[in-house]
Amino acid sequence: MTSIDSLETIVSHGLCIGCGLCESIAGADKIDMAITSYGQMRPQVKQALADDTIETIKAVCPGVLVNGPDPANAGEHGVMHDVWGPIRTMTRGWSTDEDLRFRSAAGGAMTALGCYMLEKGLVDAVVHVRASTTSPMETDALVSRTPDEVRSGAQSRYGPAAPLRHVKQLLDDGLTFAVLGKPCDCAAIRNLGAVDPRVEKQIPYLVTIFCGGVPTRHTASKIVSYHGLDDDDVEIFRWRGNGWPGPTHIETTDGKAYDLTYDKVWYSDDVPWTYDIQFRCKICPDAIGELADVSCPDSWVMVDDKPIHEEAPGANLFIARTKAGEDLVAAAIADGAIAVEPFTVGELDLQHADHVTRKIENPARVRGIEKEGEPAPRFTRFRSARMAEMAGADGDRAAEEGMRQRIRRGANREPLT
Ligand SMILES: Cc1cc2nc3c(=O)[nH]c(=O)nc-3n(C[C@H](O)[C@H](O)[C@H](O)COP(=O)(O)OP(=O)(O)OC[C@H]3O[C@@H](n4cnc5c(N)ncnc54)[C@H](O)[C@@H]3O)c2cc1C
Ligand code: SF4
Ligand code: SF4
Repeated sequence: MTSIDSLETIVSHGLCIGCGLCESIAGADKIDMAITSYGQMRPQVKQALADDTIETIKAVCPGVLVNGPDPANAGEHGVMHDVWGPIRTMTRGWSTDEDLRFRSAAGGAMTALGCYMLEKGLVDAVVHVRASTTSPMETDALVSRTPDEVRSGAQSRYGPAAPLRHVKQLLDDGLTFAVLGKPCDCAAIRNLGAVDPRVEKQIPYLVTIFCGGVPTRHTASKIVSYHGLDDDDVEIFRWRGNGWPGPTHIETTDGKAYDLTYDKVWYSDDVPWTYDIQFRCKICPDAIGELADVSCPDSWVMVDDKPIHEEAPGANLFIARTKAGEDLVAAAIADGAIAVEPFTVGELDLQHADHVTRKIENPARVRGIEKEGEPAPRFTRFRSARMAEMAGADGDRAAEEGMRQRIRRGANREPLT
């Protein structure tokens, strides 16, 4: 098997998720996160890296290593669920700020928690992402110090984003901050915590989504040209929000507006784009935020035990994974920042059934890469024996073989620039 010895190996073998932590560690003069021809955000090495910098990056990069949660995180009254990971408390809910609830991706849970942490002085800053002000179809990493700034990032960005670009600088500046990002961004921060003792004190909260994977930058362009437009015509590109799930909304520089429903964008087969996620997402061991303090997926409206995406007042789940997460959610409820109602694991099984298959097939998919002699990340403490058992012998074998075929077709290969 090829070993993972450099950033180039991580990127060229499809293991990078584009978090930006390597740029943060090495410095922007040495590594620059940029969108490549493949359409994802990737580190571009501008100057040779010192050996110790490479070693630190290999220790923190979620393309190299992800350690699952400590089962003790669930606490005495919680559960360590085979598929869903640690659940201390779980409720369905939304932001009590009705404007935020409307504008956000779902119920505004993540933004509400980010604002709450700043308002209560629990953190000095919030690390998150926002639609780029200069290239509206792209996404910038943001460090917000006021609730209004956090609110400006409410919305899902179904494309490349590198939220962790500023993390080391914030640690060096002695700031305490929360991260609102994807599960793999949270995994990167947990990895960093294993080599940098400042993380435990200075990053007290990680809040995340459930994640179906990150499409390439090309998808946004395909949606734009579907409307007969060029990228340069676009002034606003909103993937969802302004309703739940809300339309994929484009406004042009000459004042025209174009909307597509969520189902049209992601669930119809008569459009010229697909959900073209990066390879690393196909072997993601944790797309449900087991390593965060709180996971805030959509909490879809259900009809006949299936999620539907008809417009409704936005709703999330608040899944507290750690004591810090449990205390944060409880305090936000007590202070009226969020409103919640009961929710059960049985309902979770139905609402997010798509994540069960990915989870239980994960060990076989990683094994498939290894058997083809290609570099594979190390995923530990994700209950792999139990996942293989749940997949069943046939399912496990099929997942491994499917991955081996993908690797033979070069599905894990990616250009560096
Ligand atoms: C790529 C992607 C895939 C998703 N897949 C699923 C899924 O499979 N199932 C599911 O239930 N939900 C999924 N969602 C999450 C869902 O769309 C909502 O974002 C989530 O439920 C939070 O809703 P909210 O109202 O609390 O978010 P808001 O209050 O609107 O806040 C959104 C937050 O998400 C962060 N964010 C948005 N885009 C990115 C990004 N690209 N990288 C890092 N951070 C980002 C922002 O920093 C912000 O804090 C996905 C979102 C994204 C971006
Ligand atoms: S996953 Fe993050 S740390 Fe690893 S190479 Fe990609 S951007 Fe850098
Ligand atoms: S699917 Fe996993 S690896 Fe891909 S963006 Fe989501 S959390 Fe990251």
